[in-house]
Amino acid sequence: MPKIVVKFGGSNLRSNEEIHRIIKVVRNYNQPLIIVVSAFYGVTNYLVEALEKARRDEEVATKTIQYLYDLKIGSVEYFIEDQVLRTETIKLIQDQLVELRNFLHGIALTGDASKALEDHVLSYGERLSAIFLNGILNSQGLDAKLGFPETIGLITDGEFGNASADFHLATSHVRESLNEDIIYVVPGFYGISQDQKTTLFGRGGSDYAAAAIARCVGASSLDIWKDVNGFLSSDPKLVSNPVLIEKLSYNEAAELAYFGAKILHPRTVEPLTDPHISIRIFNIYGTLEVEKPLTIISREKSVQTGVVKSVTYSDDFGLLKLKGPGVGLKPGILAKVTTALHNAGINISSVLTSQISINILLSRKDLQNAFAVVSAIELSAVGKLQIEDDISVVAAVGHGITDNFGIAARIFTALASESINVKMSCSGASPIVSYYLVQSSDRTPAVRAIHHEFFEKL
Ligand code: ASP
Ligand code: MG
Repeated sequence: MPKIVVKFGGSNLRSNEEIHRIIKVVRNYNQPLIIVVSAFYGVTNYLVEALEKARRDEEVATKTIQYLYDLKIGSVEYFIEDQVLRTETIKLIQDQLVELRNFLHGIALTGDASKALEDHVLSYGERLSAIFLNGILNSQGLDAKLGFPETIGLITDGEFGNASADFHLATSHVRESLNEDIIYVVPGFYGISQDQKTTLFGRGGSDYAAAAIARCVGASSLDIWKDVNGFLSSDPKLVSNPVLIEKLSYNEAAELAYFGAKILHPRTVEPLTDPHISIRIFNIYGTLEVEKPLTIISREKSVQTGVVKSVTYSDDFGLLKLKGPGVGLKPGILAKVTTALHNAGINISSVLTSQISINILLSRKDLQNAFAVVSAIELSAVGKLQIEDDISVVAAVGHGITDNFGIAARIFTALASESINVKMSCSGASPIVSYYLVQSSDRTPAVRAIHHEFFEKL
């Protein structure tokens, strides 16, 4: 019987009330599962800070492990009544914390950390939450076992901080390691390089880890439990009556995540598209019925009436502008710039060009660095280099967007009627997205105007 891979996030493990809900969900499945779990809420950010501080402060190692120990020990004592199991779980947690302390201590002594060590330190959040959840499930009479990525053979391409699974090498190991009819609890966020180094799948990468495992074992679905009501027609913090999207294609989900929807990591669909494994999204505060997902993401593509399925936004982008009277016709500029950015480890999100201007869309955090990198290149045709960080990207997503006339017209009219200026726009780069760059202060009214146009008009 194919397994279901179930992913719980840090926000599902915040309180004992939520952990009760997880236990209920696991019981409701009533079948063997592979559970992939993220770090406790906020713990990865805490470890990122600890890593930084440890370079200068020897005390950080001890303070960090004390903080992590205190964080959930109350819940261990509350849930695990059996003394033997409780002692065993606490011992496993302590063993991890001693290792972590030694690594942080080493960083304090040398004042430095390699990329490999950084990835390893940041993986402790997931290691701890997996041990914690495994102990609790066992205490409830459920037959659960830990499966660390290094023991199950979740092999990656070895890129620190942004690894991808290597399915040629990983699939048979993972499949064989997780083949018993029990519940496995696997820490998300990382896999292991061929030379046994911890390699992270990038921030928020537990969704991707769960998807990679689902692919390796040929899961019947990847079920992701959230604390929100599935994919909606827009962010409920911005619009008052968002509509639930019951079905999305892989590409629609990926584009929505890329343009800011926080519900899913943009890379989650990558491993699942070829084997056609569906993603089902549930809310831990909902009915907990495992046959009633809120949103199903699959290969099925549908064009809905009105075409636009969701309006999303991101404030994480910034623009690098290369200006000069002939940049559009001068060969080689983009080649030099993109090579330099690549060598500096900076990812390009989009490029929009004209005869007098090349505009590169980047993650906002990379903007200053990108400016410095490009400033250092000899580019005679470029008279002026500028950065713009006061922008937001608002995107409309849905199959059919570039195949139907009038969609962009409706969007521009809706924006114009709110006096919102569109600084730049792009349609057609992806057949299912149309996106608009606006001043940051116009982001909320822009999302509301487009949502109103497609979902609130009678
Ligand atoms: N804990 C990791 C992070 O915060 C991975 C995840 O939550 O998916 O980035
Ligand atoms: Mg997450």
